[in-house]
Amino acid sequence: MKPARFDYHRPASVDEAIAVLARYDGEARILAGGQSLVPMMNFRIATPAAIVDINRIPALAHITVEGGIVRVGAMTRQREIEHSPVIKERLPLLAEAIKLVGHLPTRSRGTVGGSIAHADPAAEIPMVLVALGGEVVAKGPKGERHIAARDLFQDALTTSLAGDEVLTEVRFPAIPPKAGYSVEEFARRHGDFALAAVAAVIDFEGDKCTKAQLALGGVEPAPRRLSAAEAILQEKGLGEEAIAAAAAKAREGVEPLSDHHASGDYRRHLTGVMLERAVKRALRSRA
Ligand code: FAD
Repeated sequence: MKPARFDYHRPASVDEAIAVLARYDGEARILAGGQSLVPMMNFRIATPAAIVDINRIPALAHITVEGGIVRVGAMTRQREIEHSPVIKERLPLLAEAIKLVGHLPTRSRGTVGGSIAHADPAAEIPMVLVALGGEVVAKGPKGERHIAARDLFQDALTTSLAGDEVLTEVRFPAIPPKAGYSVEEFARRHGDFALAAVAAVIDFEGDKCTKAQLALGGVEPAPRRLSAAEAILQEKGLGEEAIAAAAAKAREGVEPLSDHHASGDYRRHLTGVMLERAVKRALRSRA
């Protein structure tokens, strides 16, 4: 299949990209790594009137740390994340998750901003951003705004970004040095989208859980925090019983997708299994 006809623009700055987007009144799409948009165009699932290629805007690719926040430019390639010493040290959860994103060739082109904006229900980078309580920076004709991850992901492939906005930066709170972390997912094959995934960051002293951050991916239309399960760990600690109770609470509270990949019941079951595995491995990660 080939894409429908479209105009092509390659702006040299974010402001120029915003001006082009404004001319198409929501009918233009930004091209980042193209690993999701191009297949959608080839299958005519997406038929934008224009493509705004932001691959030549240098200001959009960076990894910096400022006041405990790791700031990642939207055009930062997933592969750069995989090899970044800053990410390895300050965001080991993302360093672990990125290896589960697609395959080496897709990570070499795919970007952090593209994964966030594409908002696939099973995408690992959005799930990590939700787990850490991060945010994105978006710029449009009305200026810049910050959107918290919990307000960004609305539904499958749907975010609260406006059609004339460019996502410019993704901001992840750094993981506390002593916190445990892990990402557990179940996919049919390595590199496939997950049928269920849980990202866990656990602050703990012995069996006492001082803070649990648990995010679910692949089960519902959008990634979200498992707050009721977090509360159980923070109240009852990190023994076998408490972890099992948190897993049961998570299973009970999900409204799982059902499709040709897996039934809702199977995803519900996997939610509990991934949570238990993720919490237990997070505890071992810093033991
Ligand atoms: P693009 O495809 O260029 O764009 C995606 C969407 O985001 C488009 O709608 C585009 O308009 C919009 N967009 C992009 N950048 C911006 C921006 N800065 N501002 C506003 N809107 C923007 N992903 C996973 O998470 N897990 C997987 O296991 C996985 N497996 C894959 C396997 C294969 C074979 C392939 C081809 C892809 C897979 N992916 C997976 C998806 C991959 O990670 C994509 O790179 C990612 O979803 C989109 O990033 P991109 O830079 O390629 O964006």
